[in-house]
Amino acid sequence: MVDDLNEKPEPAPAAPKASVSRGEAAEAPVPAEPPRAVRPELLSAKVRDLGLTIAGSPLEPLVQQLHRELHEKGITFLPPVYLSDEWGVPEGVPIIAVPFYLAKPELAKLEEQITEDLEDEQQIAMYLRHEAGHAFNYAYELYRAKEWTDLFGPFSRPYIEDYVASPHSRQFVRHLPGWYAQMHPEEDFAETFAVWLAPDSNWREKYAGTGALPKLEYVDRVVREIGGREPLVQPKLIDEGELDVVLADYYARRASTKPAERISTFLDGDLRLCFGEGGEGPAVSELLKKHRAGMSHVISDMTGARYEIVRSLLVFVTERCEALGLRSDPSKLPTQIAHMTALVTGLSFNYVRTGDFLGIPQEGRGEKRL
Ligand SMILES: [Zn+2]
Repeated sequence: MVDDLNEKPEPAPAAPKASVSRGEAAEAPVPAEPPRAVRPELLSAKVRDLGLTIAGSPLEPLVQQLHRELHEKGITFLPPVYLSDEWGVPEGVPIIAVPFYLAKPELAKLEEQITEDLEDEQQIAMYLRHEAGHAFNYAYELYRAKEWTDLFGPFSRPYIEDYVASPHSRQFVRHLPGWYAQMHPEEDFAETFAVWLAPDSNWREKYAGTGALPKLEYVDRVVREIGGREPLVQPKLIDEGELDVVLADYYARRASTKPAERISTFLDGDLRLCFGEGGEGPAVSELLKKHRAGMSHVISDMTGARYEIVRSLLVFVTERCEALGLRSDPSKLPTQIAHMTALVTGLSFNYVRTGDFLGIPQEGRGEKRL
């Protein structure tokens, strides 16, 4: 099925994707440094001309694994997977888009080098299960049913750009980072489906007594009822032209916004407070370069701010520490790191609430989640 779609595209009108936000163009990651050891001809090529296919790529076994998981759960419809510029499922069409860079190790390395982020196999499997939830929803048009709306909310509800999650809510499952299920009824269903599908998720025990359990039980029952049926909506390839982009432009576009730059020198006093004067340990900027990707993930997970946003903040903070010549103090390092983490966490939470790291609300701004 995957091969068929790669070889015989049937372009259809573009439709918005119910995508996760990781690969989104707007408000995107800031490149750390110019990519090293990348063939120039690669950067000047259009993604479409790179000859990428899922078949034979590192993605193939992971797609097969998803299909196996669906099959073992009694679902006969196996959504096809195609290469695009981000994760997602075109609205209403049961087919899964996967970022192209995952189809070639050289491109994956480049992605990691530029964004300091790359999905590992476990994360790819998690994204695939989430997107399979969207595909299953569309394939059987579950979202049209009253019971679906009663459980998850109205499908037609607009995606809220400056949505704020309740970190301790027990009404939702947690699967992808950032309380994704709370963003929209569709995402709630996709996340619920993903938790239900994941082998050994022990969802009955884990979510016992929570508001998420009836949703999981709904998925379990519906699959038993219709999992063996032909889908109402058949998959077809949606060609949105995303792969017409030149690779260098793809990264330039992703680097186009630097939300942290508005902070200017406002943080300098806080950074001096974190690290004091006269430290004789490694330069703080070097420590940050080494650890900021991991810090970004944790802070993103804890605040609900997107990874790209937190990382752009940490890239900015790294530059300020370098400009200020701050050095760490080995005897105080745990305290210094805790201080720095608290500072960046607070700023990220400001961003989620107001669209501004300093908490000064911007007109029409907010944490854009989709
Ligand atoms: Zn989604």
